[in-house]
Amino acid sequence: MVTNNRGICFVGLGTMGLPMAQCLSEQGFAVASWDVSDQAGDGLPHRRTTLAEAASGAEVVITMLPEGDHVRQVHGAIHGLGSSPRRIFIDSSTIDVTTTRQLAVTAAEHGHGFVDAPVSGGAEGARAGALSFMTGGRPEDLAAVRPLLVAMGGKILHFGPASSGQAAKACHNMICGITALGVCEAFALAEASGLDPQKFFDLCKGAAAQSWILENRCPVPNLTPAAPSSNGYAPGFAARLMAKDLRLAQAAAQALGQETPFGAEAARRFTDFSVEEEAGALDFSAIYRTIRPANDG
Ligand code: NAD
Repeated sequence: MVTNNRGICFVGLGTMGLPMAQCLSEQGFAVASWDVSDQAGDGLPHRRTTLAEAASGAEVVITMLPEGDHVRQVHGAIHGLGSSPRRIFIDSSTIDVTTTRQLAVTAAEHGHGFVDAPVSGGAEGARAGALSFMTGGRPEDLAAVRPLLVAMGGKILHFGPASSGQAAKACHNMICGITALGVCEAFALAEASGLDPQKFFDLCKGAAAQSWILENRCPVPNLTPAAPSSNGYAPGFAARLMAKDLRLAQAAAQALGQETPFGAEAARRFTDFSVEEEAGALDFSAIYRTIRPANDG
């Protein structure tokens, strides 16, 4: 069992990682954090200047990075530091199933444990310590790190061996991407029909069309003050990350021969939208601009 006296190396201090690391630190865990960007986490007392410094003596390594290659790089660098007491690597990034399986095998070859634990709940969930974790890995490794996950989140679901958490996350985010496009198209049609968007929003949120995406990422500006659309589409969850997750779901579907035509269309739409760096950095709900360009606020 991980206690708050033993070291946690937290790598990746972006939109999600920073509040997650803060959450652990505020609850008394001994965090040493690091990010490849000098600006990320600058000034935090637990921020270290090198990865080696952050990893030194750490019993648990948590990664919260954009893509599989970044996680592979960081794990490789830590394995390269030489032998250490058994660690457990937790990867909370959203990455592909194949890389995740390789990370688990490599960790085991070095005598370490591995848990994939991608999250849902967004930056607000991370700040509130209310993330949902979809996990994969050996039950004993998950049991050992459960106190850390409990500190950062409310819901912890174990789906099976390493990579099962990533499989669940891919399916989950495919629902989010498809739903987001559905919400955008319905609001575009409502506006084109001359309906009051606020009234339409109020209708949907109390009716069968209700969803987390509708309530928290409504694409029409100024219907909900906290939504990215009401704040210049600042993320939230960047469109490029949504596109990445939808492509991960497509990779999983193709590997298994499962047809997911709505998922494929969502992957294509968000990938096209994210080609321009500026658009890709906006919240995914900004895709509304391509669906109702004349009225994007
Ligand atoms: P982000 O781009 O805000 O942050 C990523 C951080 O990783 C950056 O600070 C970057 O400098 C750092 N980084 C990149 N490569 C690195 C390396 N090799 N070594 C050390 N640091 C490195 O991304 P984010 O929004 O925090 O998302 C992180 C992961 O969480 C992604 O996989 C994303 O899909 C997933 N996720 C994000 C959200 C969300 O709402 N933002 C929600 C759920 C899951």
